[in-house]
Amino acid sequence: MASVLSLANITKFYGPVQALNDVSFEVPEGSVFGILGPNGSGKTTLLSIILDVLKANKGNFLWFGRPGSPDQRKKIGSLLETPNFYHYLSAINNLRVTQSISGRGSAAAIDDVLKKVSLFERRKSRFSTFSLGMKQRLAIAGVLLGNPKVLVLDEPTNGLDPVGIAEIRELIIGLKKSGHTIILASHLLDEVEKVCTHVAILKTGILLTTGD
Ligand code: ATP
Repeated sequence: MASVLSLANITKFYGPVQALNDVSFEVPEGSVFGILGPNGSGKTTLLSIILDVLKANKGNFLWFGRPGSPDQRKKIGSLLETPNFYHYLSAINNLRVTQSISGRGSAAAIDDVLKKVSLFERRKSRFSTFSLGMKQRLAIAGVLLGNPKVLVLDEPTNGLDPVGIAEIRELIIGLKKSGHTIILASHLLDEVEKVCTHVAILKTGILLTTGD
């Protein structure tokens, strides 16, 4: 199967701290790929590098077999930290704001993504009335605008209760079925086992193992 992302020898230092040490792996198309590791193992650093937020000291990566270009970036949706939504605006109006800033997707796409994350019925409710799980699903809806082929999510279940975690799990499984490749970082072994088809395990910046 083709790779959507190939990493080769990615190495990153923050001053004397080595956050990543020669990390290489491939993310197959159509997979739910878990980057698993404890706090401080380098997951967020790795995601920041593949999203061009940080530069590696060594190594390189290819998206869809090629070095990064703005055109390819449109195929990638990412959620590195919880976005700031307006508390007094409805879900639908918040997504209108997201859309006008990002330029991704059409007006019709907003209804579409709200349905995908099971918030269509609540589209007119204020953001402030949402549970944490609903807020996180709205954040994922924002990422889905423009229908990116690949989604990159950092700890998508952080802070959620078991019901919220299960809802995100169902959502990820549904997104995989509709053809998205999903790359997610997590420290929850159990969650990764339940939802991921492939995994890369990091410990103190070292890749311990990767595979299906
Ligand atoms: P968490 O689950 O806690 O977010 P993580 O696996 O995402 O952890 P990173 O945040 O990538 O790990 O951190 C990897 C290492 O790099 C840690 O030792 C961390 O202290 C260090 N680090 C991260 N960001 C910086 C920074 N801006 N300056 C210095 N050190 C940093």
